[in-house]
Amino acid sequence: MNNENTFHKGDAVSEEGDYICVPCGYQKHFKNGDAFTECTSCLAGTEKGHDDYVDGTELWEKVQSSGE
Ligand SMILES: [Zn+2]
Repeated sequence: MNNENTFHKGDAVSEEGDYICVPCGYQKHFKNGDAFTECTSCLAGTEKGHDDYVDGTELWEKVQSSGE
């Protein structure tokens, strides 16, 4: 496995679909042209999030559809 399916807060969404917050498992749908946000569940990527979670760390991971 590599990190080609993980994205940082602020990255542009290049593929519409569901993404999972790596630290907490929260699932969110992003559309083409959007930018990845902080996680609204665990607030990773914000100052209110995990103390050990720093900007620039992978946050959103693409959910692979089982139909492919
Ligand atoms: Zn989260």
